[in-house]
Amino acid sequence: MQAPVRAALKSIVGDAHYRDTDGDLVPFSRDATPLFSARPDAVVFPADTHEVAAVLKLATRHAVPVIPRGAGSNLCAATVALRGGIVLALTRLDRILEIAPPELLARVQPGVTSTALADAATREDLLWAPDPGSRAVATIGGTIATNAGGLRGLKYGVTRDYVLGLEAVLPTGEIIRTGGRLHKDVAGYDLTRLLTGSEGTLAVITEATLALRPAPRTSGTGVAYFSDLATAGRAVAAIISDGVLPATLEFLDRSCVRAVEEFAGLGLRTDAGALLLFGDDGEPDSVARVMARMSDACSAQGALEVTTAARIAEAEALLAARRCALPALSRLGSLTILEDATVPRPRIAEMVERIDRIAERHDVTIATFGHAGDGNLHPTCVIESREDTESVARAEHAFGEIFSAAMELGGTITGEHGVGAAKFPYLSAQLGSDQVSLLRRVKDAFDPAGILNPGKLGS
Ligand SMILES: Cc1cc2nc3c(=O)[nH]c(=O)nc-3n(C[C@H](O)[C@H](O)[C@H](O)COP(=O)(O)OP(=O)(O)OC[C@H]3O[C@@H](n4cnc5c(N)ncnc54)[C@H](O)[C@@H]3O)c2cc1C
Repeated sequence: MQAPVRAALKSIVGDAHYRDTDGDLVPFSRDATPLFSARPDAVVFPADTHEVAAVLKLATRHAVPVIPRGAGSNLCAATVALRGGIVLALTRLDRILEIAPPELLARVQPGVTSTALADAATREDLLWAPDPGSRAVATIGGTIATNAGGLRGLKYGVTRDYVLGLEAVLPTGEIIRTGGRLHKDVAGYDLTRLLTGSEGTLAVITEATLALRPAPRTSGTGVAYFSDLATAGRAVAAIISDGVLPATLEFLDRSCVRAVEEFAGLGLRTDAGALLLFGDDGEPDSVARVMARMSDACSAQGALEVTTAARIAEAEALLAARRCALPALSRLGSLTILEDATVPRPRIAEMVERIDRIAERHDVTIATFGHAGDGNLHPTCVIESREDTESVARAEHAFGEIFSAAMELGGTITGEHGVGAAKFPYLSAQLGSDQVSLLRRVKDAFDPAGILNPGKLGS
């Protein structure tokens, strides 16, 4: 990047919020995706929307790439600076501007973490529903830009279902406002939804107006063990066909249960072939009824054992089992590749079987856990040593086949983590060439110089 661009960046954000030494750039060369890294030329930390606009205008004028970044916790290499350029770190824009209980909404800057918003909402007896496993660090900007999901997706939906309006800066520097405070507004193309999930390739989100829900009065959690995943799958089908829409319906395969138990010592049964975690929230009577129906459905489908948590602390311990699946698996090797693919709910067991066969064929270890309620699976490959390039290559081939299998079963290459650089090579197979070329034309309309997060969606 040329010296005049560096100087102009410093004058926009101030010397203290501009970084470009090797040491400064290393942490911004990668995100939570293990196999990707590329060094940007500089990192800037703007203070407000006008500084964001000035950086983007400058970048468009000089054709320099800009990579918007929140916490960098994404799992699809969406913030890797493939072509160098400026990382636009939005963490200083971290104010909750408003929580408005009568309107059931919050207005926040993009650098607020999901947990900070959830805590602020709870204090007002309200619920911020999207709950990615990374919520303690993940920013609202990144959560909107990846359209993140989480454990409550089946009942509560994903981030897009809660974004009412956005303030965003176009790559050319114009500031736009889409949607607003209304829970109903159908004027024009739905740019709010288009920007949600756009992975930092169309515009930079500088403020969000988000829908909140009344906080549930209570919650319940239960665990059911099955001899195999096919039986667990039948229990999932039985629960949903019983007219119940639980808040949580998660599964762990045999290897995940063992890893979690070794890691956390929660007293889980390690002789089972699959574990189903189910839960609901709402009014106490209704939660008790739904929990009983789900327990019965599991037993009727041949569960080896079903237990429900009587107290909140026990429920939290059970949920912890699911939440610690990734750290538990990470202990088994120095490299853990967590992937994301989704299939129609009735095909989960078939998909896991296919994953097991693919892993065996490529001689890699893959354990699978995920959201049984919405068919979203996280096959996770553990490799003993990062330097074992042969195993890494075998894992990459295996994942290529896993994504193809998901598509063959009517699913998708990503249910919640996004495309980023990691899934970009598979995008055409998922969407078809006509749709990919339409994506490119949309991208051109927003970003004529192609500076925003190049090498990702719409490139
Ligand atoms: C342990 C762990 C658990 C996770 N669990 C889940 C889960 O349950 N569900 C799930 O969906 N994901 C999950 N993730 C993935 C990830 O954490 C989420 O997608 C998260 O919401 C990303 O937020 P972030 O602030 O880290 O964004 P980043 O990683 O910094 O950025 C993600 C994308 O958003 C863009 N972006 C960031 N801020 C802005 C902005 N203000 N304007 C425009 N674009 C922007 C970036 O350019 C990039 O394309 C998990 C990750 C980890 C490591």
